[in-house]
Amino acid sequence: MHPDNTDELGFDTLAIRTGHHRTAENEHSEPIFPTSSFVFANAAEAAARFSGATPGNIYARFTNPTTRTFEERLAALEGAEACVATSSGMAAILSLGLALLKAGDHVVCSKQVFGTTTVLWNKYFAKFGVDVTHVDLTDLAAWRAAIQPNTRFLFLETPSNPLTEIVEIPALAEIAHAASCLLVVDNCFCTPALQRPLLLGADVVIHSATKFLDGQGRAIGGAVCTSRALADEVVGVLRTLGPTMAPFNAWIFLKGLETLNLRMKAHSANAQRLAEWLEAHPRVSNVYYPGLESHPQHALAKRQMKGFGGIVGFEVEGGRTAAWQVIDNTRLFSITANLGDAKSTITHPASTTHGRLSDEQRAAAGIKEGLIRLAVGLEDAEDLIRDLERGLG
Ligand SMILES: *Cc1c(COP(=O)(O)O)cnc(C)c1O
Repeated sequence: MHPDNTDELGFDTLAIRTGHHRTAENEHSEPIFPTSSFVFANAAEAAARFSGATPGNIYARFTNPTTRTFEERLAALEGAEACVATSSGMAAILSLGLALLKAGDHVVCSKQVFGTTTVLWNKYFAKFGVDVTHVDLTDLAAWRAAIQPNTRFLFLETPSNPLTEIVEIPALAEIAHAASCLLVVDNCFCTPALQRPLLLGADVVIHSATKFLDGQGRAIGGAVCTSRALADEVVGVLRTLGPTMAPFNAWIFLKGLETLNLRMKAHSANAQRLAEWLEAHPRVSNVYYPGLESHPQHALAKRQMKGFGGIVGFEVEGGRTAAWQVIDNTRLFSITANLGDAKSTITHPASTTHGRLSDEQRAAAGIKEGLIRLAVGLEDAEDLIRDLERGLG
């Protein structure tokens, strides 16, 4: 299907039909091209491909037809001109950074991002003279104040993990653009099924395809969705450095996209049931879920998101001992830090995902010892509730 024809089509049609260019075999399902390189008809064609005079595949470090199908499909869903697939979500952030930043540049990043993203800025980009300021996600005045003349982009996740704080993307886009900065949103938690940051004013969307895009915990991958011009810069990074998505993985992710909308609705419905049940439980002191009326940004979430997602945080009295007991008493939930899987997972953030922070940093981030994070999967809600009941004793 030609990408120019996609405007009138709905989300699910785009998710199922975009990007598959049938071969001469007329296959119905998307093929996998496990090939490292491509053959030219003659020397002149090889020269034209290498010079960029004619488009087409050269070498799978930077193009592969299976990967391109995934890229065209995800771009259509995010409303992006272009998408570049990468070997992981971290490789997507790294490649974007290498494409956009040079020594002396500056980035503003929300404090409440994926831990490894913070390490990437503070340990690795810092080595090459890129400075990062961390601000509170929801504090628009702090974002504005942190911007310097050398700031290239603002980077955030919304909702945050695991406390599900939300920032208004259009408001932040305005702040970024007034200072000639780009706005970059890691949209891993929502996926385009629930939130489309580019249509709300953001310039770049980052994905860890590892999570909900796959949805079944089978492979590691990532993507950058943005303008054609910026995507070309990211392809340049891939061509030189090689953090490329493998065609087998691209196939898993492009098939995952076909059911993305259905799955995100089901994750959201299950999470809503669990959040409401937890909120009524006497042992639970706080529940963090944007779909709850009690969530301080429930109205904003309703405006900005089509559904509230699969991540639920809650606190029990009694600190770490009590939280670990709840986790260890469940049987169905998998004890793992992964998320975005059909299988529900349960995590103690203070001793795992946020375990590398100092006590003060953890307190500042609002990660209490009694906090538990659920990544709610697609099992029957009744069974998950029964399991939490067992956990809470
Ligand atoms: C997992 C995750 C990443 C990193 O993705 P990988 O595919 O594991 O490299 C980045 N951002 C968010 C929000 C994530 O959850």
